[in-house]
Amino acid sequence: MKEIVVLGAGYGGVLTAKKLAKRFKKDQDIRIRLIDRKPFHTMMTELHEVAAGRVDEDAIKMDLNKIFAGLKVDIVLDEITNIDFKSNKLQGKRDTYKYDHLVIGTGCKPSFFGIPGAEEHSFSLWSFEDAVKLKQQIRQMFMDATKVTDPEMRKQMLTFVVVGAGFTGVEMIGELAEYREQLCKEFYVDESEVRLVVADMAPKILPILPQNLIDKADKYLRKMKVEIITGTKISGVTPNSVILGEDNEIKSSTVIWTAGVEGSDLVGNLDVQQQGRKRILTNDKLQSVDYDNVYVVGDNIFYIPEGEERPVPQMVENAEHSAGLIAHNLVCDIKGGTQKSYKPAFHGTMVSIGGRYGVAAVGTPKKLFHFSGFLAMFFKHMINIVYFLQVLGFNKVWTYLMHEVFHIENRRSFVGGHFSKRSPNFWLVPLRIYVGVMWLLQGWEKAGKLLKDPSQMFLIPPKAMDGVTAATEAVDAVHSTVDAQTAASAVEGASTAIKAIPVPDFIKGMVDWSMDLMFYTSDGGYTSLAYIFQGCMVAAEVIFGIMLILGLFTAIAAIGTCAMSVMIYTSGMAPYEMFWYFFGGIALIGGSGSTFGLDYYLYPRLKRIWKKIPIVRRWYLYTD
Ligand SMILES: Cc1cc2nc3c(=O)[nH]c(=O)nc-3n(C[C@H](O)[C@H](O)[C@H](O)COP(=O)(O)OP(=O)(O)OC[C@H]3O[C@@H](n4cnc5c(N)ncnc54)[C@H](O)[C@@H]3O)c2cc1C
Repeated sequence: MKEIVVLGAGYGGVLTAKKLAKRFKKDQDIRIRLIDRKPFHTMMTELHEVAAGRVDEDAIKMDLNKIFAGLKVDIVLDEITNIDFKSNKLQGKRDTYKYDHLVIGTGCKPSFFGIPGAEEHSFSLWSFEDAVKLKQQIRQMFMDATKVTDPEMRKQMLTFVVVGAGFTGVEMIGELAEYREQLCKEFYVDESEVRLVVADMAPKILPILPQNLIDKADKYLRKMKVEIITGTKISGVTPNSVILGEDNEIKSSTVIWTAGVEGSDLVGNLDVQQQGRKRILTNDKLQSVDYDNVYVVGDNIFYIPEGEERPVPQMVENAEHSAGLIAHNLVCDIKGGTQKSYKPAFHGTMVSIGGRYGVAAVGTPKKLFHFSGFLAMFFKHMINIVYFLQVLGFNKVWTYLMHEVFHIENRRSFVGGHFSKRSPNFWLVPLRIYVGVMWLLQGWEKAGKLLKDPSQMFLIPPKAMDGVTAATEAVDAVHSTVDAQTAASAVEGASTAIKAIPVPDFIKGMVDWSMDLMFYTSDGGYTSLAYIFQGCMVAAEVIFGIMLILGLFTAIAAIGTCAMSVMIYTSGMAPYEMFWYFFGGIALIGGSGSTFGLDYYLYPRLKRIWKKIPIVRRWYLYTD
């Protein structure tokens, strides 16, 4: 049995383990273990959103057992304290683990550069726990400030300083600027009392971005009343202040440190060659230069690709690319094949400044396009969605959209609050029952006709004929119209036809073509399929009606309602009231049966059963 151990369930580790599981699916003699000190994978790129109350704490965690459900990966919960590369063993706090092949992806931690008091007195933002702690601190300061009468103390409590104006620092201060309005309302604080500062030694914020985007970010932050201090050395942090330069002391109870990162504690102590700030030196195959059965993924890599001057960036895209390459090279180690060299192509950087605004330089390595505002945020969300699809599929994309768009509070999204305003479901109950009754009445009437004469066709118009034949038939019809009642019904039919919603010619053309193909025989009669179709339409009207009235599988009935109304419209026979069905159907899709309907009782039970089906869990086809 060959043992592969992936250490660290971050962006790099999770993707490597998933790819390895796929490649070794059928190999019984290969065991893959993923070891992390936490039972979940943290969305590091969204820590600031939790810290500043934009999304719930749960929004940035993904359960490892869910990610690897049905996959050949054993999840091990342990903190590794040392690695003995000579005897191929990992020493954990709980156990010792042997490996034949190891992938190290333990990420980073904040670097304090020996600045006095920085580590002891500032808040960092490099883990889920950091984000939660910071959020509590921010809220606590607002809460305490309302009880404090000393103006200096109050000012200190309501001053928040972010040290570091790279993308983590700017994202944090931007998010805080957006949170300020909400906090001030909640704790009865005047907004002018809250001071937000971002400070950096570098001469400008976001130095990795092009100047025009830096200017836009700078302008937006200032508009949000953030003070930007650049080109100033951070000399120290005390329990109640940060010292900039020689003697510029800003009194603050909350100093947030985002000024730099270094390799994780574990990596710093490992007996392998390192470069940069505690990064493991690798060759082009991403193997440690000391041990070729040890690969390095994500932020832990120190490798300068051919033709480049700087090491690969410590960003998610690097973790993603390196995971793919390592999985391939490791398969070659075990099964043979040609290993590949790491030649990553990066596609830019996106920085959000709160939930409503962002800047982005995205494209190809040769040509980056610059975006700000709506489009920048759109790209940031799209990139996240692409990642989530790889990791937790539909399940995560769904919850992400809920957290970021559909359940967002205080309009903190790039689409504002337009998609998140909600009204209670019970307002929809009358509409649901009304649409249901209307379908039922319609279907009931038609079912009566069908039972009377199953061969009578009334839902599909007769095949269009040439002018002479049509005229002759019309005359025949007039001649055969003998009684007044039939005549009246003909007139009524004609007037209904006139009131039908007009259909554009191109749709009519397509419908005629498909009806010719399926419903008409060459002599102008109807095919058997036409009779089946008519029967199904009538049955659907009755069934959807009953489902809507009972509130049973309402979403399906509502989608069916929309689909049927579109079908009837395209056939050219829809009266204007068909709009009611269509728009009513849309309104009813989102859980209208879960109030005073059977779905209220049924869905929770069905959901539990559904989630237990292996293929559903394996492909993440459920919501939480
Ligand atoms: C606030 C913030 C915002 C960011 N924004 C962006 C962004 O917008 N775009 C971008 O590209 N990048 C961004 N980054 C950087 C990005 O998050 C990292 O590049 C990425 O997380 C690296 O992935 P990784 O797999 O190397 O490590 P990580 O994702 O950090 O995962 C490391 C894993 O190793 C585990 N671990 C560590 N030590 C041990 C041990 N001894 N034993 C067991 N387990 C251990 C940890 O628990 C963790 O699960 C941001 C980072 C932060 C903090």
